[in-house]
Amino acid sequence: MTREKLAGVLPRAALDTGVAMAQIRPVCEDVRERGAAAVREYTARFDGVDLPTSRVPAQALADALAGLDPTLQAALEEMARRVRPVHEAQRPAGHVTRIGAGAQVTERYVPVDRAGVYVPGGLVPLPSSAIMNVIPAQVAGVRQIAVASPPRPDSGGLPAPAILAACALLGIDEVHAVGGAQAVAMFAYGTADCALVDVVTGPGNAYVTAAKRLLAGTVGVDAEAGPTEIAIIADHTARSRFLAADLVAQAEHGPLASCLLITTDPALAERTEAELAAQAASARHRDTVQAALSGQSACVLVDDTEAALAVSDAWAPEHLEIQAEDAAGLAARVRNAGAVFVGPYAPVSLGDYLAGSNHVLPTGGTARHTAGLSVLAFLRGIHVVECSAAALAAAAPHIDALGAAEDLAAHVAAVRVRVPHGQQLPADGGGSASARPGAGQSAAGPPIRPDLAGRSPYGAPQLDVPVRLNTNENPYPPPPALVREIADAVAAAAGSLNRYPDRDAMALRADLAAYLGNGLTAPQVWAANGSNEIIQQLLQVFGGPGRSALGFEPSYAMHPLIARATGTGWIRGARDADFGLDAGRTVAAVREHRPDLVFLTSPNNPTGTALPLAVIEAVCEAAPGMVVVDEAYAEFAREGAGTALELLPRYPRLVVTRTMSKAFALAGARVGYLAADPAVIDALLLVRLPYHLSAQTQATARAALAHAPDLLATVADLRAARDGLVGWLRGRGLAAADSDANFVLFGEFGDSHAVWQGLLDHGVLVREVGPPGWLRVSIGTPAEMGAFRDALAEVLDGAQGGAAR
Ligand code: PMP
Repeated sequence: MTREKLAGVLPRAALDTGVAMAQIRPVCEDVRERGAAAVREYTARFDGVDLPTSRVPAQALADALAGLDPTLQAALEEMARRVRPVHEAQRPAGHVTRIGAGAQVTERYVPVDRAGVYVPGGLVPLPSSAIMNVIPAQVAGVRQIAVASPPRPDSGGLPAPAILAACALLGIDEVHAVGGAQAVAMFAYGTADCALVDVVTGPGNAYVTAAKRLLAGTVGVDAEAGPTEIAIIADHTARSRFLAADLVAQAEHGPLASCLLITTDPALAERTEAELAAQAASARHRDTVQAALSGQSACVLVDDTEAALAVSDAWAPEHLEIQAEDAAGLAARVRNAGAVFVGPYAPVSLGDYLAGSNHVLPTGGTARHTAGLSVLAFLRGIHVVECSAAALAAAAPHIDALGAAEDLAAHVAAVRVRVPHGQQLPADGGGSASARPGAGQSAAGPPIRPDLAGRSPYGAPQLDVPVRLNTNENPYPPPPALVREIADAVAAAAGSLNRYPDRDAMALRADLAAYLGNGLTAPQVWAANGSNEIIQQLLQVFGGPGRSALGFEPSYAMHPLIARATGTGWIRGARDADFGLDAGRTVAAVREHRPDLVFLTSPNNPTGTALPLAVIEAVCEAAPGMVVVDEAYAEFAREGAGTALELLPRYPRLVVTRTMSKAFALAGARVGYLAADPAVIDALLLVRLPYHLSAQTQATARAALAHAPDLLATVADLRAARDGLVGWLRGRGLAAADSDANFVLFGEFGDSHAVWQGLLDHGVLVREVGPPGWLRVSIGTPAEMGAFRDALAEVLDGAQGGAAR
């Protein structure tokens, strides 16, 4: 039988909103025109309650929660506890798709600002409905959620106490005592009591459904909720008692509920029928159950489970139970259903309350094209298009052709006004080869990856000036005794340079683990050529094409650069005005973008800001992927700053990176390292080059670690010099960011480049980095700091300009 024929013969109650539509149209119109006054009149007329305002007082919510039966409260809490993670897993990641050099499209999922949830409460209050609708909205990140539920004369003119209590449990403080079409109209148009919402969800009676249909477009609505339905695919292994119980459970929802038993076993069908008669007769809602079972319900006998699947798919049930051999295998092949319940111990009643799945599901065969309620109902994917001049020039010939074909000459002109034919392209990554199709290899240069074409390499100026305070090195060279130790160790290693080094650097990793403390051991530590290589390896394994990393800028510029080099999309989060990170906003950014990696730099370069561990912890809780805490400057942090190393035992996806380039005064040796779960390190082995750390590097690092206290002896002086510098800068009326590192970000200058140049003219090199108007200076020796202070004073007092803002 064809799908059309099958669907035609299977029973189902029709959802007729025609009559209701005629009745609700004037109601909605009236609410649009007269707002709260109209809502008040309809509430008095339909619900028999006259309320001066629709908003339920906060005290009523608190009272309802206080009066909630503790057993029901525990059950609602457990329901919420199970539903929340399932919906958290639904949040889509943002994507960054590189279209070519200089052109990319970012898809950002953004929650609606305000959602309205309708919770029916007429005959039987359904607090579970509040949970199923509110949690997806909360998880999506909707800032304002308003609930509407009909008032009841027997509840003092308020919605049912159980619904109020459920709202209070969920942290909802805006509840309106309004039901029916007037509630949907209130949400869609807004009233003096209730601001308009962007999306309305939640089931309701025929009037609510008709109002949602009428106002769809004015406001976003979820799928229409028609009479509920179940199909059960059962074979000889199924138990008739279970089947009958599930059919009766569905039928008790209402006389229009549809129940379909699809079975390969005629004997089972007979047994179930007998069971059904007995269970229906003793059901609490006997009349309803019998009406539903004798109405739009049926038993379908099929030859095999293949045919059973075809019948079910044609009917596209709201709920599908599979109680048959290889139920999981069959479930994997279902094409049309709102939700599928697998095996004898996953009844629909579990899904209604406690499976964790959402119970707001498509009815009436709409499961063919619609899914159940999810976080997506409250999110919009926004495309953010970025394009450089060169990339626009590359696209222009095609836009010429498309605009001509569609006779939209102004479209073509809007592009050509920017990139005229034959224009010389700016070297911004446009890739001249793609901009000029057919250009020969020699003209286009070597055929590098288009997303790297035209980029400038990283490079802080390496200028030969007396005072170099631009790369955050430790200004004190290794003491002579250590230089000798290193030379001896390197000489010893040189004796076996014919052999490859220990490619896993086990001895070095054990030394590093001992230095880090916190109970760490060699398998939890990994080393590479500078923490830059560590970051590269992390991005190679956990990032890559189609994946994304999120950082909070201004921060270490190599994070986005290495991300790009590994094909990882970079998402720019922002720091607060004081360069710190607010936990709530940081977590919201993580939730919004769902990146594969989050970079947190603490203390941060170039601002010097250390993050409270609570922020790092909150990010670890929220992040769907890896959290990398770059602690390159950890040793310089002020007392009590703490280290993310302490959090490692609790978060297996946390990585803490460190370096010997800063406090250890070993930038030239190129040794960076990380601490993480051993599984993370196993993953890094997949991308590291064989023997990446040379024997000399390993020997040098180990010699230095053996003298760690001597090397770190300079740290206290550097910290003190830093604090002194911050005070001095502020004393001069300049801004200086609080710093936990061996540098200070200072400003703000109207022309920071002029100040930088002025300092350079005095033989002092600092760094032009960070937000506009700021400069960064590394802490040098006392003599160097003296030279810096003198130079800056002269620049600021003298004729070179760059007046402080
Ligand atoms: N992370 C941060 C925050 C840095 O500032 C730097 C270097 N300035 C690094 C990592 C890289 O250091 P290295 O590769 O020398 O270990």
